Amino acid sequence: MARYTGPVCRLCRRERMKLFLKGTRCMGPKCAIERRPYPPGQHGRGRIKESEYLVQLREKQKARRIYGVLEKQFRRYYEEATRAKGVTGTRLLQLLELRLDNVVYRGGLAMSRDQARQFVTHGHFQVNGRKVDIPSYRVKAGDVVAVRERSRSVGRIVEAAAFAAGRHIPEWLILEAGELKISVVSEPARGVIDVPVQEQMIVELYSK
Ligand code: SF4
Repeated sequence: MARYTGPVCRLCRRERMKLFLKGTRCMGPKCAIERRPYPPGQHGRGRIKESEYLVQLREKQKARRIYGVLEKQFRRYYEEATRAKGVTGTRLLQLLELRLDNVVYRGGLAMSRDQARQFVTHGHFQVNGRKVDIPSYRVKAGDVVAVRERSRSVGRIVEAAAFAAGRHIPEWLILEAGELKISVVSEPARGVIDVPVQEQMIVELYSK
């Protein structure tokens, strides 16, 4: 289960926007985008010629980084989306949204997707009553994702749930905060997936 382990704020700086990869720090003045809102590296502040390819590449990288998925796996999601009915770009985002780590984060039981991923791999979550420790596990409408009984007092989970209390939960998920439980009502429509990504650009990039 490979994942990116380098400095994450660099990723935001590369995309020139907040990708909210670090939880509380992203809201405060220590956010790297607030301090250095230009790409990292020696030529970060230089002028870059924006070719069509570069724009498409950046959209793809942005999506990968937001969801914490490496290239190979991301490509697999894309291939699956091309085989599905409907709009490929929308399906791609839906498949990413339906990952268990994303649902834990979106549902308000983790401060970031990275933290959600860690909670899941450490075996703190169950789906429909059965322990699942695979962050990429795909949930479906009707599933119930919950913190396992033995993990309910884990300090970081309690803290994350409290932090997320004021956060907007998308309408395709229902959080029962007291129960530390998220119900998946439906698959997310494109309109409720609030990621700053132009998915059509990704489709154009991969279809070359
Ligand atoms: Fe991105 Fe958060 Fe780092 Fe800011 S603090 S640069 S939003 S990961």
